[in-house]
Formats: sequence, structure tokens, C-alpha cells
Amino acid sequence: MSRILISNDDGIYGIGLNTLIKAIRPLGEVIVVVPDSERSAASHSITLHKPFRVQRMPIELGVKDLIYVYVANGTPSDCVKFGIHQVLKDKKVDLVIGGINNGPNLGEDTIYSGTVAVARQGAMLGVPAFAISVTKDSKPSFLMAAKIAYKIAKKVLKNKLPARVFLNVNVPPNLNHNSSLKVTSLGRRVYGKAIPSGIDPRGNPYYWLAGDVPKGIPEKGTDIEAIKSHFVSVTPLTLDSTCNSFLPELNSWKF
Ligand code: MN
Repeated sequence: MSRILISNDDGIYGIGLNTLIKAIRPLGEVIVVVPDSERSAASHSITLHKPFRVQRMPIELGVKDLIYVYVANGTPSDCVKFGIHQVLKDKKVDLVIGGINNGPNLGEDTIYSGTVAVARQGAMLGVPAFAISVTKDSKPSFLMAAKIAYKIAKKVLKNKLPARVFLNVNVPPNLNHNSSLKVTSLGRRVYGKAIPSGIDPRGNPYYWLAGDVPKGIPEKGTDIEAIKSHFVSVTPLTLDSTCNSFLPELNSWKF
């Protein structure tokens, strides 16, 4: 039987969590360690300067169907580390899944994303892993994403992944029966430049750093194009972000 660790960055109340747990449970033993509140855009941050605290609590998956999960005051990466090194200490973990995130994780979003960090942390600890996100918040999107998660989990459990490689999956709304899955590379996100500001009730100025919904350049073969054409996007990512193509030129600088 497979042993699967689930975490997320939307936290224990994240809308995609229950749906994912229910979809993945038929594949084996599911262990859930999630943040106690939303940590979207936490990226790969870890808790260094305060205690990490965890509680076990039940969540209801259906009538008389409870699962006990670990709820922590840390980040998504912390949760994966704790799940593997403490909860599942000395046990083999076959798969780590991050999600289902409420919102896209395309292109450079993967740098900010806590959902992607879950999968990246899995890969860092030598466990095959993937992150899954819906690009639009709707009940059918989450149900569809859960089915896709099941399908991808089965494939990853069977085929494994190369060392230090993990997958980033995005599911579009209105997936139709003719649509399927596209293997993609990361596209380019375009983030807004506007930083709206105001004056708070105490008379101090404040700024809002994440106002606009990011746009994307739908270059061929990218995750952004796949989602725009209603395909599920699956991008393989790696821990090594060395720019190998620039190595020879950098060497020619003769430091
Ligand atoms: Mn999130």
C-alpha cells in the first residue's frame, strides 16, 4: 500500500483540501499536515525563530467519515518536513501532493507559491511529488482537479520521478471531454505595476502590493498557453536552477 503525504498553502480551511483527500484515499494511506491558516505566497519559507506547534484535529469528509489531520502554525515547507521527518519517521513515503490550490500557479507564480513549495520540499527530501492548482475557483473545477490528481498520483506512484524533479499541475475551468493533458514548460507571467495606496484609520499610509490579477504571455508549449486552450498543464520542475547555457560565457569573463 502506498503512503501519501498531503499538504497545502490554503490551510486547514482551504476549499480544495477535502476534495483532494477524498480523491487520493483509494490509493493508500493518506497523511495530512497543513498550516492552520492561509499561507498562500509563502513560497519556500521555513520557521526558524519560533516554536513549531502542531495539533491533531478531525475533519469531516462525509457522513460518519472523519479523518484526523495535523494542523500546524508553520509554513507549507515546514509541514512537509514535519510530516516526513516526524509523523512518518522511519517510514517510506511514496508521494507528496500539494493542493488543491485555489488559484493558478503558472510561470513565475511557481516562485511565490506555497503549494509548489510543498512539492519542491518533497523532492528535496527525495520523495516523488506534485503540486496541483485550479486556475478558477468553482466547485466543478475542484472536482475535476481531484480526478486529475488521482490520475497523476497513480502515474507517479507507478513510474516514479527522476531525483530532484517534481511536477506542477494546473487545471483550467470548463475542461471538456475532448481536452486532455499537455506536458508544458513554464511560461512568462506579467504582474501589474500599480501599487494602490491609501491612509489607514491611524493616519498612516499603506500600500497594496498584489492588486491586479497577473496576466500571462501564451507562448507555444507553455503552461499559460495550455490553460488558455482549456488543457490541463503538467510541467516538470527541478531543484537545480543553474543556468547551464550561461556557464561557458561566465567562465570566459575570467574572474
Ligand atoms: Mn494558495
